[in-house]
Amino acid sequence: MEPPQAAAPQCNALAAAMAAGALATALALALWRPAPYGRHAEGASGWGFPVPARAAWMIQELPALAVPALWLAALSSPQQRARAAAPGNALPLALFLAHYAHRALIYPLRMRPGRATPAGIVLMAFAFCAYNGYMQARYFLAEAPPDAPLTPRALAGAAVWLAGWAVNLHADTALINLRRPGETGYKIPRGGAFELVSCANYFGEVLEWAGWAVAAWSAPAAAFAAYTAANLVPRAWQHHCWYRAKFPGYPRNRRAVIPFLL
Ligand code: NDP
Repeated sequence: MEPPQAAAPQCNALAAAMAAGALATALALALWRPAPYGRHAEGASGWGFPVPARAAWMIQELPALAVPALWLAALSSPQQRARAAAPGNALPLALFLAHYAHRALIYPLRMRPGRATPAGIVLMAFAFCAYNGYMQARYFLAEAPPDAPLTPRALAGAAVWLAGWAVNLHADTALINLRRPGETGYKIPRGGAFELVSCANYFGEVLEWAGWAVAAWSAPAAAFAAYTAANLVPRAWQHHCWYRAKFPGYPRNRRAVIPFLL
């Protein structure tokens, strides 16, 4: 297998900073406290005014869609357009845009919002999505090999991405269906990957971006996959402990986020 495509210096530096951020995030979430939104929002005073959950998701996720989309629309030279159209660049970028079109525009309208999100969390997520949108767009549209081919590795990574997205979408839908309109409480999720793990949506998300990193085979993609796991695995563990404490009959064989392992 060929080595990961060498990114130009700026993408390398951006990816290294995100990888360092992933480590810091995992440590902060594991040793300090869960990110204060959703069921872990207690004690969120000091994190800013409450933003309604739907608006929070739209605002914070939009930059990851808008930055690459605007960059694509602004490409002017034939060389720039050729790099964007090279199959090894176009495929992972299209997958990234598909995910964020759903997450920023469709998911917030489908969800059954519970607690509001503190503005500080929205601001941090917005900054992360802007940074990540810029880094991934810069890689695929300015620094990636201009003739990147579609390799068997890229196709295999895209298949894993698709499987992860399917798990994530199914799990998000199962959670939406747990609440009737107006309800804000919690129930035990069942069906699909929830039979194996407490946080099937996070499992799907982690799988999705791991597959995507294999498809893109770049330092920025690897850094994003690492950050996603660093963010969601500790939170999944916190959700898992919360479920066990709240529901005495909670299924004992369920893991937190990685089936049969964790
Ligand atoms: P959660 O699973 O905490 O919550 C998702 C939604 O379902 C919320 O509206 C929540 O309500 C509701 N919900 C959760 N569990 C239950 C339950 N047992 N009974 C009833 N309702 C429930 O996920 P997040 O909000 O953290 O994430 C949402 C999506 O965004 C996921 O698909 C996740 O993978 C993705 N995400 C991706 C990240 C990344 O780094 N790439 C980071 C964070 C999220 P309430 O808000 O009231 O708890």
